[in-house]
Amino acid sequence: MTDNTNIPARVSPAADGRSDGNGDYRAIAMVIDTSFPVGQQVRTTQSVLDPLTPVQLAELRAAVHAAQAAGTPRFLCAVCRRPVHLAQRPAGPDVTRNGLAAFFRHFAAAGAPPCPCRTVPGVHNVGAVKFDGLQEGLDHHTLKHALADCLRHDPRFSDVQVEKRITGTDGNRRVPDVSALFEGKRIAYDLQLATLPIATIRERDTFYTANGVHHVWLTDAADLSRLSRQGFCDLHLNMSGRIFAIDDTSIGLSIRDGQFQLQELTILPRLVKDRPIHNVWETALVGTEVILIAPHLRKAEGERRYRRELATLVSASLGAERQAICRAAAMDQGLAPVGLQWTRLARFIRGPGVDAAIASDVGKVLAFLAQVEVFVTHQSGSRPSIERELQRRLGTLLASRHGLHWVPLVLMVFSTLPAIKAAVDPATMARLNTLLISTEKVRPLLRMHAGMIAALYPWLGRRLLMKAPKFGPKMRLPASRA
Ligand SMILES: [Zn+2]
Repeated sequence: MTDNTNIPARVSPAADGRSDGNGDYRAIAMVIDTSFPVGQQVRTTQSVLDPLTPVQLAELRAAVHAAQAAGTPRFLCAVCRRPVHLAQRPAGPDVTRNGLAAFFRHFAAAGAPPCPCRTVPGVHNVGAVKFDGLQEGLDHHTLKHALADCLRHDPRFSDVQVEKRITGTDGNRRVPDVSALFEGKRIAYDLQLATLPIATIRERDTFYTANGVHHVWLTDAADLSRLSRQGFCDLHLNMSGRIFAIDDTSIGLSIRDGQFQLQELTILPRLVKDRPIHNVWETALVGTEVILIAPHLRKAEGERRYRRELATLVSASLGAERQAICRAAAMDQGLAPVGLQWTRLARFIRGPGVDAAIASDVGKVLAFLAQVEVFVTHQSGSRPSIERELQRRLGTLLASRHGLHWVPLVLMVFSTLPAIKAAVDPATMARLNTLLISTEKVRPLLRMHAGMIAALYPWLGRRLLMKAPKFGPKMRLPASRA
């Protein structure tokens, strides 16, 4: 394929609609999204990546790797039709942790056909930092043995081993840092002391799951400053913001009590007057009842916790305002009748004012979300009319002046509540697909209004707002490593 006239040249930073000086890291400006209907698969990189929140970016990275491992690549380069994966610009003061800093990159492949969009392997390749001898020095060694020591003091664990090889049913082998038996089940622990590539994270999780081994990722108190790096975000954002850590306190208590304990770090929302809703790390000592819980249950529990925490915080400070706005949305009355309540809520969390919200069609967004709630809570009764109203409101939103810019929100609702996607009629779905393959630049309306939407509909809060807090949690470093 040599005709690339509609593919912006790699040296033109404005080609993907960006003019903020982020340079030419997005060599691939158009991709084929194989999850879309045939004939409607070519999308701009800008529309796929720019609207992604940190949680959605972590989810998409995991999905892309899962699809690649399954032999059905999710995204292909639109020029050479070879599979591409998601990379992230290296951390820096001007680099965001959401989709704005993400880009598509060809998988490295010997003998791959030349493509004008192919960049030199290795450049920008953050997340592919490998352990090397130096990084895996004294700390890692000390910590592995401290972890094993904790497990040996707990009589419920047996056969505690450091770096014991585990052979899978397919003959493949892994060497976890520490492993042990608990109630007849093998538990493998891996200490992450550097940012691992997502392929490695995924591949280890898959291996251990396939072989009936419970796998625990944990980090070290000395490493907490790196929790906002992509490799760590891939771990904790895909686990509802939860990650285990080992520190002096957990080591001391495990040995003193004869009960294995770790610190669990959890991202939770915070609401403080005159500040946007933000995130903090909560630290809690946890035992085997949390450490050995099945991953999908741990994730679901984390989701519930974030949602409840956000709902509780909003109710405590702005309950009346939230109720009034949501009631108006349920009746599809728009924002005008609740301008006063909107203003109070917006001032509290520094959200956009009511005029800006009305100008961005936020009223139509809220009408749709309110009907989503009705649809989800009414499992019986007047289902057909509820479903028709859902379709009508979604249709109105997509047909609005800013419909294109609200498509990312619709996709977020679909991934949060798959039943909603299933309820959408073919005509509305066709309209959505048309918008998805538009080459027009998608404006960040979702990002602008994320705090307000999350405050009103906390079930979207995690995907809209969760990200690694700027500052790591405070934990005690063993004196030898301080
Ligand atoms: Zn290509």
